[in-house]
Amino acid sequence: MANHDTSDASRMHDLAVEDDGFEYSLRPETLKEFIGQERAKEQLRIHIEAAKKRGDALEHVLLVSPPGLGKTTLAKIISNEIETNFKQAIGPVMEKLDIVSTLSNLEKGDILFIDEIHRMKGYVQESLYPAMEDYQLDLAIGQGPASDVVQLDIARFTLVGATTREGLLAGPFRDRFGIRIHLDYYEPVDIQQAIRINSAKLNIDIEDEAEYALARRSRGTMRIANKLLANVRDYAEVKGNGVLTFEVAEEALAFFGIDERGLDSQDYAYFRTLIEKFNGRAGLKALAVALSEDERTISEVYEPYYIKEGLLMLTPGGRVATDAAYEYFDYPVGTQPSLFY
Ligand code: ADP
Repeated sequence: MANHDTSDASRMHDLAVEDDGFEYSLRPETLKEFIGQERAKEQLRIHIEAAKKRGDALEHVLLVSPPGLGKTTLAKIISNEIETNFKQAIGPVMEKLDIVSTLSNLEKGDILFIDEIHRMKGYVQESLYPAMEDYQLDLAIGQGPASDVVQLDIARFTLVGATTREGLLAGPFRDRFGIRIHLDYYEPVDIQQAIRINSAKLNIDIEDEAEYALARRSRGTMRIANKLLANVRDYAEVKGNGVLTFEVAEEALAFFGIDERGLDSQDYAYFRTLIEKFNGRAGLKALAVALSEDERTISEVYEPYYIKEGLLMLTPGGRVATDAAYEYFDYPVGTQPSLFY
């Protein structure tokens, strides 16, 4: 089982939250350096070129994907490619006044990146509508009967919003993004390429087979690949002779409790709880309580990968462990609940 820190906070940090200096140094800076996601890159290339030709700001962009697939990286790349300033705001903590002060300080073409935009308060989202559409801010002056609303012109900026849950955005808000980009989980070959490039940047001597061993266990997620590379490198330095061979990589992954599919002790706990405690079907709240986990971490960080892997289905009657999950986690197939509720 995993020997590293797998507390909720650390897991959420690993998969969802702002990166540390190590990751920062590995961020690709141009569309060309951004690996995979060909469709998304092509879409962006076209819009960026068209905006540049017109001499206008890029339309507002919504980036959608599970955590760690490159939304923040792409937002920065957009700003690099159009050579404008990059400003970042954290959605959930923003208030109307923050919107006013942030937007009134932007220059033409600037990128304003708002992460976790689905968690922004409703009235704060709404205060963005006139800014996104007409580049104006409605300011309330005074209080009571004497109050008035004045309009403040702002620069033609580009809002880049990132979300793991597009469905939680209000329709009118979502519609104000002219460009919507979905990032998919990466194929192991794409991740292997990133591991190769990052190993070179970090001066890690790594074998091809070791690269692939790490790539296969990265859950299709670049952030996890970077994390695994860092952990396995440390292991190789302490236990091996510094060269990251296939054998050392496999040994390190086993030491860190990461299985063939990149699942760790927390994933095993999830399925053990779902299958043993709830007979294979449970609601999110019940699971969160049983696992002592945050509901959001479960639904936004863990489950999208289980669904993609065919281990879990979301049904009106709750989360259901599939045949494949019973088989993979060694429970007798045929004892799970019907998918029909
Ligand atoms: P998100 O904002 O979707 O959670 P990030 O943009 O923070 O994800 O990406 C996490 C890390 O993964 C980044 O620090 C970057 O180094 C790496 N990364 C993401 N996408 C790519 C990519 N397409 N090519 C290379 N590295 C990537």
